[in-house]
Amino acid sequence: MIDSIAAHVRAGGRVSADEALELYRHAPTALLGRLADDLRARKHPDGVVTYIIDRNVNYTNVCVAKCTFCAFYRDVGSPDGYVLGFDELFRKIDETIAVGGVQLLLQGGHNPDLPLQWYEDLFRAVKQRYPSFKLHALSPPEVIHLSRLSQLAVPAVIDRLIAAGLDSIPGGGAEILVDRVRRLLHCYGKATSDEWLDVMRHAHRAGLRTTATMMYGTVETDEERLEHLLRLRALQDETGGFTAFITWSYQPDHTELAGSEATGIDYLRTLAIARIVLDNFDNLQASWVTQGGKVGQLSLAYGANDMGSVMIEENVVRAAGASYCMDEVEIVRNIEDAGFAARRRNMHYEILGGPMFRERDVPRMLELATARADGDASVPDELANYPARSRAAKQLRVIPH
Ligand code: SF4
Repeated sequence: MIDSIAAHVRAGGRVSADEALELYRHAPTALLGRLADDLRARKHPDGVVTYIIDRNVNYTNVCVAKCTFCAFYRDVGSPDGYVLGFDELFRKIDETIAVGGVQLLLQGGHNPDLPLQWYEDLFRAVKQRYPSFKLHALSPPEVIHLSRLSQLAVPAVIDRLIAAGLDSIPGGGAEILVDRVRRLLHCYGKATSDEWLDVMRHAHRAGLRTTATMMYGTVETDEERLEHLLRLRALQDETGGFTAFITWSYQPDHTELAGSEATGIDYLRTLAIARIVLDNFDNLQASWVTQGGKVGQLSLAYGANDMGSVMIEENVVRAAGASYCMDEVEIVRNIEDAGFAARRRNMHYEILGGPMFRERDVPRMLELATARADGDASVPDELANYPARSRAAKQLRVIPH
């Protein structure tokens, strides 16, 4: 059975749900890796592994969604809650550009006190100061949150964000796209499976490219992991709008859900089966941010053709106990040591050049930055320009007339 499915995959055939499950459960790990690596090599015969220099910024940690797997969020009114100011974000962009960066990956909590206008003003201000700098921003649940807050339909919210400067949408908040799992993880309310997919459908129709993700290792079954992949594959057949897929394991420290982390083999098998099932996705990223550099590098033999982003700043995974740091020098060393040529790319996977540090002097980044320095409880001045919804924020804000 395994042999005939493997032959079908090698011949370029598409696997069904049953075939994928058989492989995922019973194929030897080395065979899964070889199949995935063959498919990777067929799509990327040039021996190139890409990466992007961007900065992962979380503009607020205040969130009303309260997902049980999340160690990052703070309640409305919490003394540890923050919203970054426009000036703080400009400073982060300056630092990103200094190391050759081309975009911000901008995501945050569902903060009821940041109206759509705040995002539009921020995006416009960024584009005015940095016209060619890209905004890869707001995962589908954040778009849905804004749709509910503004009482506008999702396509209208996406249109307004595009008009303000949104370039592409990250695939966060997908977790597992099966509603049974989402209910158990307390993330059904922020977005059902259909709602998540619908945001991506609308974004693709509006001309945006997006990524897709999967966080596994909580309460889902093997069948549900595969159902997630199959739903992504179906939408990709429909729109062709996904540039890449990224999977990572749930990070349990300091979360309400707790539990233990999936193993390295589980990660490599999951990555490999994703490469096999997602035959219409060109790019799969290695999640070294959750798996560490060594398993991240091994990913390149299990279907990944991209090392993701140089990590300048990280807040979410670190809050749940994992903190791995690789700057461009280290990412390139891992790629080249695995036998590939390292190339810088943008979000569209267009090659921008070879390693930046070989072209000019760039500062080494040997420690991850955080969104805010510890103990900094400052409130940005411009927040006074936006109406608050929560009682806690209303008490703090006085709207000038
Ligand atoms: S995962 Fe995102 S939406 Fe869920 S609680 Fe954390 S910040 Fe909020």
